[in-house]
Amino acid sequence: MKISALIRAMAEAGASIDLIVATVEKIEAPASPPSAPLPNARQALLPRDWQARRVRVFERDNYECRYCGKVCVDPHCDHIHPLSRGGSSDEGNLVTACPTCNLRKKDRTPEEWGVALIGGRA
Ligand SMILES: [Zn+2]
Repeated sequence: MKISALIRAMAEAGASIDLIVATVEKIEAPASPPSAPLPNARQALLPRDWQARRVRVFERDNYECRYCGKVCVDPHCDHIHPLSRGGSSDEGNLVTACPTCNLRKKDRTPEEWGVALIGGRA
């Protein structure tokens, strides 16, 4: 369909001028180039010094899970207020968590999960 015919058909169908303009602009826009694979969205939110930061958190917490107290050989660095819900990666929002607790907590706050942080907030 020619654009002029499309405009006429849309106008006859009662489309607003804004809708017609938006539609024409969409058609005329160059096809977007194939995009590079997206980086892991979660990874993109983490600070550049993430690895060093998590080690500092583990050392601060003596490698003990702040939810159950278990000493962890493979600790996770948990965002108390979940990253996916606007939490920051500041060390005050990070705690050591064993994999079990971290997976159980999911993207909830400790309050929502119903488990208190050992020693209170960092
Ligand atoms: Zn735990």
